[in-house]
Amino acid sequence: KLFVLEGIDGVGKSTIFQMLKEDLSFSDLIFSFEPTTGPYGQKLRRLLSEKKADPRELLNLFISDRKEHVEKLILPALKKGKPILLDRYYLSTVAYQGVEFSNLLELLRTNETFAPLPDLVIYLDLSVEQALQRVISRNQGKSLFEREEFLRSVSHNYEEILPLFRHVRLPAWKTLESLYSDIKELIQSYLRP
Ligand code: C5P
Repeated sequence: KLFVLEGIDGVGKSTIFQMLKEDLSFSDLIFSFEPTTGPYGQKLRRLLSEKKADPRELLNLFISDRKEHVEKLILPALKKGKPILLDRYYLSTVAYQGVEFSNLLELLRTNETFAPLPDLVIYLDLSVEQALQRVISRNQGKSLFEREEFLRSVSHNYEEILPLFRHVRLPAWKTLESLYSDIKELIQSYLRP
């Protein structure tokens, strides 16, 4: 089973991911994230933080990083029947890079040629206003991608493509505890034989 956590910046995705990782009831789950820690992923994080990246270069790096991720980790794990949880996957590329490259379906198809379809997308849902407030209070809104208009487009792109996937939308404005217990129950229900 391939589970994917998605959402715009500031929804609390990484916090939830970390909590699941530390939860002993998920010791059989393989946890991974994108951009990865591989060479393409490292370059991506550097470019994203420098804020002067060329959109085409970014997109190519995301695709290269994902190809490596799929080959080295995702496919081998799925072949062994091991469940995986990813913090971001190709929906992120379609939603974020889709802001510059507006043909979402083409971006989706490019990824679908090599990346396995997720069995479940868990979408953490929050309004752009609330997400921005969290991001600003966390790191002074420094990132290129944390501008309101940009996040609006990202959010809009997610809405366009989510119906194409088996997905569950969870309200990220709830308390962390309650959000966490929803996600935990959801994943456990999918893992039960
Ligand atoms: O998952 P996380 O929020 O840590 O992502 C790191 C940064 O990379 C975020 O600021 C996000 O906006 C950006 N990103 C991106 N395009 C993607 C995935 C993430 O611009 N496809």
